Amino acid sequence: MRIGVLALQGAVAEHIALIQKAGAEGVAIKRTEQLDDIDGIIIPGGESTTIGKLMRTYQFIDALREFSRQGKPIFGTCAGMIILAKEIKGQEEPHLALMDIQVERNAFGRQRESFETDLDIKGIDKDVRAVFIRAPLIERVGEGVDVLATYRDTIVAARQGHLLAASFHPELTDDERMHAYFLDMVRETR
Ligand code: GLN
Repeated sequence: MRIGVLALQGAVAEHIALIQKAGAEGVAIKRTEQLDDIDGIIIPGGESTTIGKLMRTYQFIDALREFSRQGKPIFGTCAGMIILAKEIKGQEEPHLALMDIQVERNAFGRQRESFETDLDIKGIDKDVRAVFIRAPLIERVGEGVDVLATYRDTIVAARQGHLLAASFHPELTDDERMHAYFLDMVRETR
């Protein structure tokens, strides 16, 4: 099984390391042609406006919409979750607009710009280590979206079929369980 990590900007190497730890091959994706060779893709954290711009420049918007139409799983972490969302609060244009969630960027305020905590993630475990860095939150989920984790009453992880989103950075820990969960999703669709 080969899992891509969109490598336009952001935390790429860390995701690849955890994909390998969870037992699959991880590949950095820089060109749309490479999408034919992978079974699922992770859109990493970073800065969503920058990633979105680069995705438009390198034709990744249509290519990833097609990838999703084929039922291939996509996992967005932090900025990657913003890229997946159908609605970004206060912002006119979404990016991929694939997942029926509304997100709010930089939602945890200045004092809590970055922090770590253990989350109870449905389908994984009660103590999954999560690192939040200027993280977005999920304000609203549509029908068919399953909430997987909350932090102080706000939604921080969700799944809609073959789409997975997390506010935090699972790749900045050495805990590969969230990646293993995504690999199971990919296995189910193959
Ligand atoms: N604050 C960033 C954004 O809005 C996301 C932060 C991150 O990916 N760590 O794009």
